[in-house]
Amino acid sequence: MRATLDHVGIAVKDLAAALAFYRDALGLEIDAPEEVSSQRVRAHFVPVGESKLELLEATAPDSAIAKYVEKRGPGLHHITLRVEDLHAALAQLKARGTRLIDEQPRPGAEGALVAFIHPSSAHGVLVELKQWAVGGRRSSGGGGQPATSPRPPDPSVTRDARVQRFSVGDMELTSLCDGFFRLDGGSMFGVVPKPLWSKKAPADDRNRITLAMRPLIIRGMRTMIIDAGLGDKDNREFHEIYGVDRTRNLDHTLAEAGLSAEDIDIVLASHLHFDNAGGFTVRDGAGRIRPRFPRAQYVVRRGEWDDALQTHERNRASYLADNYAPLADAGVLQLVDDDQTIMPGVKVRRTGGHTMHHQIVVIESGGKTAAFVAGMMPTPAHAPDAWIMGCDLYPMDTLGAKKQFVKEAMAKDILVFFEHDPAVAAGYIREQDGKRRVVPAVS
Ligand SMILES: [Zn+2]
Repeated sequence: MRATLDHVGIAVKDLAAALAFYRDALGLEIDAPEEVSSQRVRAHFVPVGESKLELLEATAPDSAIAKYVEKRGPGLHHITLRVEDLHAALAQLKARGTRLIDEQPRPGAEGALVAFIHPSSAHGVLVELKQWAVGGRRSSGGGGQPATSPRPPDPSVTRDARVQRFSVGDMELTSLCDGFFRLDGGSMFGVVPKPLWSKKAPADDRNRITLAMRPLIIRGMRTMIIDAGLGDKDNREFHEIYGVDRTRNLDHTLAEAGLSAEDIDIVLASHLHFDNAGGFTVRDGAGRIRPRFPRAQYVVRRGEWDDALQTHERNRASYLADNYAPLADAGVLQLVDDDQTIMPGVKVRRTGGHTMHHQIVVIESGGKTAAFVAGMMPTPAHAPDAWIMGCDLYPMDTLGAKKQFVKEAMAKDILVFFEHDPAVAAGYIREQDGKRRVVPAVS
């Protein structure tokens, strides 16, 4: 879990005396007071660099702050830590036996979500956890966005970076998250006009939409990961262009899934674009690039491998050799030529379209089927036939592969994993009155 100090709450008995110290003696500026009538308290925020102090003044004798001051005198009341994903933070704390005052997030000021941890679990300090609201004002708490994120999250987009587990027969499928990034909305939807796609995927001020990276873990005979997100080798300019936010990334979600890089036996590539294969390698302390999963064999389609090493003007920006070339040097590369079984129950199937040798992964066990559809259908918004990425090299091949797959997915009730949706990790494709939609699956 990564946390940023949002503010320190101080219970105040005599506001005039408190202002005489914080404002006059220290010379700090005090924001206009905010009344929280439900708590019968008035909050005076004092910006101090990245964080704030919050002077809490009771407005009624039965307010919690009044009782606190009466019992313990004025002083430190709570600290507030801002987290990216409050649900995940609470789950992690619960799993470690932490005593929580709020088991579930509840609405706080400015539409933020908050939850309190009991002081008995926090060494005598009342700790509030806070997650910024989708679309909420971010002035409170100072600092704007977290320092690791170049821009604030797109306010109108729901983002979900949770680890989600599903069972398919005897196989355990775990959807991870390597964070979020942004791509041009037009390039993501091809011939679909913006008035239509922007309803499903709102664009930011640079016409970019928010996407996630969701590698999939399959635990069967062996432990496999399909794709590995963006990784962390890229520079600041790259992060700025693509609005990268990896505040919560594959390291976190892999650990939450109870795995380390050493546990992975097979790394399987849908294709080798930077948002799929970036996490295949890491730069070590000496600056050398090496395979990120030290024990794994990396399985790549031969045609995709060849294309990634011999790029042309149209696909060059998507292929960064540092992500995959070192795999061959390290002797961990395994090239496959045809559609075949990679481990029992797990098959690759070439679709072409997005790239000439792009492949999806079909998982079958105990009469159930799941599929990791990668660039063929990166989000549920891409379920309708014509919603095909403009950046696909062979869009008519995408169309053919998608039509065939959708038919099969509905007939067999396939659990479909969407690699790039910011909110939906997996779902089922349904059609009603000629309209195709995705029903999100609950893990
Ligand atoms: Zn791609």
